[in-house]
Amino acid sequence: MTTTVTVTGTGTPIPTPDRAGPGVLVTYELPSGDSVRIQIDAGRGTVMRLLGAGTSPGELDAVFLTHHHSDHLVGLDDLLLTRWVMDRTRSLPPLSVVAPAGPCTRFVDGLTERWSEDLAVRLAHTGWEHGPAFDLEGFDYPVVPVEIWQCSGLRVLAGQVRHEPVYPAVGYRIETPDGVVVISGDTLVCDEMAELAIGADVLVYEAMRFSEIRQLPVHRQFILDYHADTVEIGRQVRSLAVPTLLLTHLIPPPESDEDEAAFIDDVRSSGYDGEVVVARDLTSVVLG
Ligand SMILES: [Zn+2]
Ligand SMILES: [Zn+2]
Repeated sequence: MTTTVTVTGTGTPIPTPDRAGPGVLVTYELPSGDSVRIQIDAGRGTVMRLLGAGTSPGELDAVFLTHHHSDHLVGLDDLLLTRWVMDRTRSLPPLSVVAPAGPCTRFVDGLTERWSEDLAVRLAHTGWEHGPAFDLEGFDYPVVPVEIWQCSGLRVLAGQVRHEPVYPAVGYRIETPDGVVVISGDTLVCDEMAELAIGADVLVYEAMRFSEIRQLPVHRQFILDYHADTVEIGRQVRSLAVPTLLLTHLIPPPESDEDEAAFIDDVRSSGYDGEVVVARDLTSVVLG
């Protein structure tokens, strides 16, 4: 058995040539040889990165959304429509799409309407009986981390994080027999994140170098309100004794080895001595 964490996108709303929008793929390989594959968030270019990771939208079992910010969602229509178009035998089951009830679920619910004219033409042209099929599962905003989904020994818990004024916003805790993976979504470093990440083997954390952002013009500093400072991340993962930290959603995006080293130095400034990885697209970590 192995559980593999692959960062499908390390970017943000600001485009760069080599970083897709936010997303993480978790693959749990069962002893039978079957796999459970889940995708958390679907930013720009997610479908291309899934193929780069050796899978495709048609092989996913579920997609989980963290919050209603476009950088985490703009690849979702592509993912759902591509899964549908690529299903040549028309045999794929509806894809589970799981999200906190509210703007995220309303966004997913609107897919068929957004694409109604395209779908009508394609259905008439192909003779296919229906458009993209998905099971939308909204859950109430979790006060404490709570299980929201499970499949073949992989369970997913959702926990609230702090990304105000975006509400709701959650992170996810994925547990398999191989270990625990926690994905922060977008958040401040906060007690809620600590609660979600207790005992994590791998923590995928959004990361922003506050020291850099504080040098920007004041009108661009609003992003300090709701992202995770690399120095604060270091303090938190040290107190939680997380063995492996994977930094993503990188602000500012590293353009050199020196830039990546600066993220690591910030985390290390707390005395954290675990593994720190500044993720690039398709960076993977294996558990088990
Ligand atoms: Zn974001
Ligand atoms: Zn966000």
